[in-house]
Amino acid sequence: MQNLADKKVKTRKPHRCHGCIDIIPTGTTVRYTANVDGGRVAGAYWCDRCDAFMDTLPALDLEDGITEGEFKYMDGYPLANTKDTGGE
Ligand SMILES: [Zn+2]
Repeated sequence: MQNLADKKVKTRKPHRCHGCIDIIPTGTTVRYTANVDGGRVAGAYWCDRCDAFMDTLPALDLEDGITEGEFKYMDGYPLANTKDTGGE
């Protein structure tokens, strides 16, 4: 897996967080990563909670790739919302 991008971006439209599939509202500054995996470019947005959680994971887990929404089912993931992101 080759890393193409790992940066902070301000969203210009709502995105789904790759780690927890929560909606990231427009105008939120979040981490964006892009990788080439098997010849495909896979871009992903990460909410602050998943960004912080990612840093606690062994690099090996990340090498294998994270399935969309997978963080919610992983040990140690902080399920309680640390901040209200709006929505309902
Ligand atoms: Zn998330």
